[in-house]
Amino acid sequence: MTNGGSDALQSQLQALTDKFAERLQQELPELEQVAEQLQHTREREQRRALVLDIRERLHRLAGTAGTFGFTALGQQSRLLEQRADHWLDAARPSSQALTTLVPAIRQLVAEALSGALERKTLEHHDGRGQLNAGCRVYLLEKDSDAGQEMCQTLNNFGYDVLQFPEIALLQTAINGQPPDALIVSQHDDELAAVSALQQRLETPLPLLVINHRIDFDSQLAAVRAGAQGYFTRPVNITQLESSLEHCLNRQLSEPYRILIIDDDADLAARYSLVLRNSQMLVQTLSDPSKLFEVMHAFNPEVLLLDVNMPGCSGPELAQMIRLNDEWLRVTIIYLSAETDINRQMAALLKAGDDFITKPISDNALIAAVYSHAQRARSLSTALSRDSLTGLLKHADIKEQVALEVERSLRNGKPASVVMVDLDHFKQVNDQYGHAAGDNVIRSLANLMHQRLRRIDSLGRYGGEEFVAVLPDCTTEQAWQIFDEIRQRFSALRFHAGAQTFTVSLSAGISATDGHASASALLEHADQALYVSKHKGRNQVQIAQQPEAGRESV
Ligand code: GH3
Ligand code: MG
Ligand code: MG
Repeated sequence: MTNGGSDALQSQLQALTDKFAERLQQELPELEQVAEQLQHTREREQRRALVLDIRERLHRLAGTAGTFGFTALGQQSRLLEQRADHWLDAARPSSQALTTLVPAIRQLVAEALSGALERKTLEHHDGRGQLNAGCRVYLLEKDSDAGQEMCQTLNNFGYDVLQFPEIALLQTAINGQPPDALIVSQHDDELAAVSALQQRLETPLPLLVINHRIDFDSQLAAVRAGAQGYFTRPVNITQLESSLEHCLNRQLSEPYRILIIDDDADLAARYSLVLRNSQMLVQTLSDPSKLFEVMHAFNPEVLLLDVNMPGCSGPELAQMIRLNDEWLRVTIIYLSAETDINRQMAALLKAGDDFITKPISDNALIAAVYSHAQRARSLSTALSRDSLTGLLKHADIKEQVALEVERSLRNGKPASVVMVDLDHFKQVNDQYGHAAGDNVIRSLANLMHQRLRRIDSLGRYGGEEFVAVLPDCTTEQAWQIFDEIRQRFSALRFHAGAQTFTVSLSAGISATDGHASASALLEHADQALYVSKHKGRNQVQIAQQPEAGRESV
């Protein structure tokens, strides 16, 4: 298909694309600048104006980037635009949402300018991007049957798995494009080579190790190679998948939020710089009377608190914070030149969690704050999420449905609600035991989590019942997504002792139709789920529209 006309068109298109790429070099830093401004603005109206500006810019990017072939940039801009929208629409706009929006924009700009987004085209679900899918995993496994089975299973969970029978091939692949995680199935002494390979990398890869024995030396060798998970054969694939998701999420997780309160502004600025350099979000405060205001706006996970300040002491502030259940999840660390151990103990007994003595080396400060932040984050997650699946609890997902319904009514974009229930699950428990049943529930949760977008919400509605709410998504699009989930789920093989079994799911979908309430939507989705069950299970049905005006399926 080479003729003069199409060649000319191609080169014109290329010229336009080049021009757009040039424009990006200017527009992206501008976007980042506005985001930085936002981070440093506390005043409400000003913030709103900045978010409006950001939304406008993202909107333009989302619209144009895809057109010029920058598909991933376009899709990610769209997702961020939706987050900005969400904030603007919220009845009680959350500051936390903003503190996470700014780094997300920063990352988008950095990736786009480095060219990373040109290469990376996100997978499509009928044209809608999904951020969680397409995680690349390399598997070192010389037994090709076992390797193939694992590839297939993990593929059903939404991972992109490539198997390598020997370390040399793996090394070549890593040189070409490093994966997001590495699984090593040990037969002989593969770990020594993997360990060497990890050391040559700038940042070691998240690593899971599979072995046939579980002795002290083998586990020590695994830890030394950087393993974050250790499994024996036959591998419990659900646990392996959970572990994989855990290490990938840890990499993707939002930066920790640290608030420093010190009347010495220079010192605070220095600590702040050190922690910021380690990818934490930091705010400083020198006037203790503004504490609660700032905490509400910034929602810190760790507080670094000076002990001696004019007006009020650190321990007094800590006690005031502890009067308030709302801040139970915040870790309080005193930062002080106080070296008298008795006085330190006295402060800790009143309130507070740890003591750091000034002066402290940069590395020690980072390590102390980081480990407290990590712990605060995992406790906080454990409190607000369902313990088996890590999904939202019943009341929270219901609230999310209500929020999305309101939003959809305002912006005129459809939102879909999906209700999912496992088929004949009582039999699974009866036949294979409750623990095997729990495994199935966890697998489905992980699978859905993998396939959905970040802006979607997912909750455990009841024992073996789930609800998802998908903003800006028609029932037909939701059907595509959940029918794919249904197929992948039914292909998973579960193990209980020597037995293997499969489980299927049924789902029902409803969507906002201009006047539906959240409870009506949930009810319609439930009715559609009932139709799925009635028609023989292992299927997804869309709710009949109760009113005229829309074509029902
Ligand atoms: P159907 O296809 O009609 O949905 O059949 P079913 O057997 O799944 O329906 P039913 O609602 O009667 O049974 C649900 C079962 O799910 C009963 C309960 O023991 C089990 N279940 C609920 N929560 C949990 C859980 O957290 N863990 C395990 N293992 N089982 C659970
Ligand atoms: Mg059921
Ligand atoms: Mg049920």
